[in-house]
Amino acid sequence: MINYYQYRYEENEHLYGPGVRLVVFCQGCSLHCPGCVNKHLWGFGEGKNIATEKIVELCFEVEGITLLGGEPLDQSEGILDIIKALKRNGKTVVLFTGYNLKELNSSSQRESWKLSDIVISGRYFEKKRSIFMQFRGSTNQRVYTHKGKYKVYKVKDGKSVALFRINENGVIEVGGFQDEELKELTEKILINI
Ligand code: SF4
Repeated sequence: MINYYQYRYEENEHLYGPGVRLVVFCQGCSLHCPGCVNKHLWGFGEGKNIATEKIVELCFEVEGITLLGGEPLDQSEGILDIIKALKRNGKTVVLFTGYNLKELNSSSQRESWKLSDIVISGRYFEKKRSIFMQFRGSTNQRVYTHKGKYKVYKVKDGKSVALFRINENGVIEVGGFQDEELKELTEKILINI
């Protein structure tokens, strides 16, 4: 079981990985990177709980899961349980973590990393911000495509993708990478609706 903020299905390889994926925003992050746009995901236990079995069921018809945050590895025992169950079912795992490999200090963190097909690793550094990279928001972050189905996966940098969606409550949510001009435009639109 993990505590999460939101899950949804996405098909956007640039932001979340190959194919249709269940994208799960975990709740809770101890890393507190300055400039993080997901501060509402920092508080622990403030989301909803979801059981591993339910996640497996939700992934039944999709390529796999993308775990992001919040910080998935701050609840690594639950995350590892989910990853193992999905791998048994032939699903792929994309893991976004603010930790780097040397910082992992428990076997559940290390195993979660090892079993994931793609790992995007490292803190968000505002001074190193770039909007033209696949998966990463700052140039210090690294992508590891070390396992299984995506072993020869080529990361495609060089374009910027922003995502606008209207959620079930009619609220516009913005994801991905926006340049300053698009940010301003988005703010104007959000103020005027
Ligand atoms: S690790 Fe991710 S969620 Fe946590 S503070 Fe950094 S950017 Fe935000």
